[in-house]
Amino acid sequence: MKYKSTRGGINPISFTEAVMMGLASDGGLIVPEKFPDVGDQLDELSLLTYPELAMTIISLFVGDDIPEKDLKSMIDISYSTFDHDDIIPIQSVGDLHIMELFHGPTLAFKDVALQFLGNLFEYILKRNNSTLNILGATSGDTGSAAISGVRGKGNMNIFILHPHQRVSRVQERQMTTVLDENVFNIAIQGTFDDGQRIIKALFNDLEFKKEYCLGAINSVNWARIVAQIVYYFYGALKLRSGSSSGKVQLCVPTGNFGNIFAGYAATCMGAPISKLILATNENNILARFFESGIYEKSQVKQTLSPSMDIQIASNFERYLYYLLGENAQKLNDYMYDFDKNGTIDIRSKIDKKGVTTFVAKSGSDKHTLEMIKKYYEHYNYLLDPHTAIGVGIAEQFLEDGERTLCLATAHPAKFGEAIKQALGNDVAIHDSISALTHLPTRCTILSADKHTIQSYLIESIASHNPNTKSDLRAHK
Ligand SMILES: *Cc1c(COP(=O)(O)O)cnc(C)c1O
Repeated sequence: MKYKSTRGGINPISFTEAVMMGLASDGGLIVPEKFPDVGDQLDELSLLTYPELAMTIISLFVGDDIPEKDLKSMIDISYSTFDHDDIIPIQSVGDLHIMELFHGPTLAFKDVALQFLGNLFEYILKRNNSTLNILGATSGDTGSAAISGVRGKGNMNIFILHPHQRVSRVQERQMTTVLDENVFNIAIQGTFDDGQRIIKALFNDLEFKKEYCLGAINSVNWARIVAQIVYYFYGALKLRSGSSSGKVQLCVPTGNFGNIFAGYAATCMGAPISKLILATNENNILARFFESGIYEKSQVKQTLSPSMDIQIASNFERYLYYLLGENAQKLNDYMYDFDKNGTIDIRSKIDKKGVTTFVAKSGSDKHTLEMIKKYYEHYNYLLDPHTAIGVGIAEQFLEDGERTLCLATAHPAKFGEAIKQALGNDVAIHDSISALTHLPTRCTILSADKHTIQSYLIESIASHNPNTKSDLRAHK
């Protein structure tokens, strides 16, 4: 299996090269040359446990780049950190099914991909005898999950930018209480989009990226998509026999389009998915796009579901690429227009077949609170605010005889403030969160400015890694 860029500017690369490259060196996103098709193997796939299914699906994308036994042990270790025997349990709640993706160490779905990516990085770096400085921006959950995936691991440092005082208190503590020497938390005085813009600019500075061995852990990294594809198969295969169509509709709370892009990929590979229901909060650029064909950014609003407070969905480029019939030139033109004008209109270009897989809607904070209350009072099931947005929207798309599966993206205890607002008191408890309260923290506050961040990286890498220091002197 080889990989290419949505912008058409790189030669075919292998899976491990794609993982190490993160953002493609031409500024695009990495995609496979072709999606593998497993539509004729669904019966066999439905018999597998989660780690077995992960091994089967992920191998298709790795090819012969990593020996099978090494890949298998990486996958087994990655999911041994989950606190549920099924790894990803599926609950039946009211008229819906809920796939709990939050049983990993930081209690959000991002652990599913980032526990694996941490082990994958470690494996590749040891094999190549090289080092990596991981750089990522987070709206809250990616940061802690990425940090948990790589803390204390050799050959790598991690630098995570989060928007100062715009992540929940728990999210902040999950990141800043990690004191391992290879972990650097940076609170920027700006929004998540500012952080993402800075990171993109640093990655696009190819000389800097190469000299400082920068690596990406954001959902632009192809390995994250691959690990996420697995649970779309898992959920759809578990429930399909209960649907008269033999397929399942999935509802996904989305901000960056990373999670749901994996759903699109799974659908392309033959997963029994009838429809992807995209759920956003009031930051609804994606919902507006699916309603109108116009992709237009507006101001970021703070909501009760902060991990979806995003206006520019970096993974949307991958989907747009397929909508445009994998035409890199057209994609370049659209991305250029979007950067310049903040809006693109692709109504006339949409391949109708691609679009009908998706429906989309947005939900308000008020609706979020109502859903948390309703599911707690009627079904004794506690939703986190992101999942609540999805559940509220999924309810509007129920179809007789068809099964609807909602992705639960976080444990409610991560967002106690919203639970308290909905129910009057905070009943969401998790031991690992209670344990954070009294731990010491470490974090640096910096302005949301590329040069400030760049200088901080250079200094930290130099002082943390003696080899790099002498390299630096040699450069002067
Ligand atoms: C990251 C996150 C999302 C959004 O995921 P995307 O991949 O950005 O669409 C939703 N819910 C929670 C809890 C998250 O952490």
